[in-house]
Amino acid sequence: AQRVVLITGCSSGIGLRIAVLLAKDEQRRYHVIATMRNLQKKKELVEAAGEALGNTLTLQALDVCSDDSVKQCISSVKDRHIDILINNAGVGLLGPLESISVERMKTVFDTNFFGTVRMIKEVMPDMKKRRAGHIIVMSSVMGMQGKRVDTRGRQRTLGSLFLYSQELKAGEVENVGSRQWEFTLLLRQRVVFNDIYAASKFAIEGFCESMAVQLLKFNVKMSLIEPGPVHTEFEAKMMDELAEMEFSGADQDTVRYFKDVYVPSSCDIFEAMGQTPEYIAKCTQKVIESRSPRFRNLTNSLYTPIVAMKYADETGGLSVHAFYNLLFNFGSLMHVAMAVLKCLTCSCLRRRTVSPD
Ligand code: NAD
Repeated sequence: AQRVVLITGCSSGIGLRIAVLLAKDEQRRYHVIATMRNLQKKKELVEAAGEALGNTLTLQALDVCSDDSVKQCISSVKDRHIDILINNAGVGLLGPLESISVERMKTVFDTNFFGTVRMIKEVMPDMKKRRAGHIIVMSSVMGMQGKRVDTRGRQRTLGSLFLYSQELKAGEVENVGSRQWEFTLLLRQRVVFNDIYAASKFAIEGFCESMAVQLLKFNVKMSLIEPGPVHTEFEAKMMDELAEMEFSGADQDTVRYFKDVYVPSSCDIFEAMGQTPEYIAKCTQKVIESRSPRFRNLTNSLYTPIVAMKYADETGGLSVHAFYNLLFNFGSLMHVAMAVLKCLTCSCLRRRTVSPD
């Protein structure tokens, strides 16, 4: 029998690509219910789906911010039977905290956090009854938290750090080559001015960590997909919003730093390190099809140093100081962060990324 997959936020980007990939499965293993807030935006999906539309793919309206819309959509599904729920809908928010109203921040949480919670609350009871189902949540590297400490991994990471510090002492810094630049750019771009977005993704990760334990008892699986930058409309939408931002409340240094350092490097990083939505869709398919899917699935191995820093020092000091020195004291303690680069080769961290092959 076909597995019923319901996906949120399919009018563009990653959601659209997952919907098309699964609906076009050669073995026709999936029936995809592709949902979007506004069905008038269906054109791109309809074109990409081609003949799958009406066969292995159906369209439904669903606004994750509306209780009524969520209930209506799920009730319209035959027997409310959903095998795989993919919570993909999400929005970004960029800028100095001082310039963003709390009301605006709440809209991000209403989509990224409560939107996902609303969906799970509505779909989960039937999954629990059937003792079957898989819930996927599109998180982000920015939702990563360092709560879990795998002792073995930590020791290896610390081992790598030690070896690397020896190499640094021996003056072999240059070995790092172009990845040094990539890594620096990466750290500079990702840690600041995404505060509320990161918090919304952290919130959903915390929620999922808690839910996953209960769901296991009911044989319902839960997986987080954690992409780095992806070439979708996501970044452009945030940049458009910035054009309107007045930066009231923020001091000049912060605004200057944001406009002159953050924004240009943010564009560079999307260019240099972004993955395609098709790639994220393939990773997601791999997670769905895995016999024992992992809970956490990073898609971009360039981001493993960020995780590595949390593994390497569970007090949090290494991450905070490494980011600080890269941002505001560039060069002096660069070595600490560069040491973490070594962790890219740490096999325990490598295993954390998911790839379609
Ligand atoms: P996108 O903007 O192309 O897609 C987001 C989709 O969510 C859009 O179709 C949008 O209409 C929809 N959406 C927003 N609010 C909604 C609501 N209330 N109800 C229903 N749908 C709603 O961007 P994307 O990159 O495809 O983003 C998809 C997911 O991937 C998001 O959760 C995002 O946080 C996550 N993500 C994106 C990136 C990236 O760099 N693009 C990186 C990591 C994680």
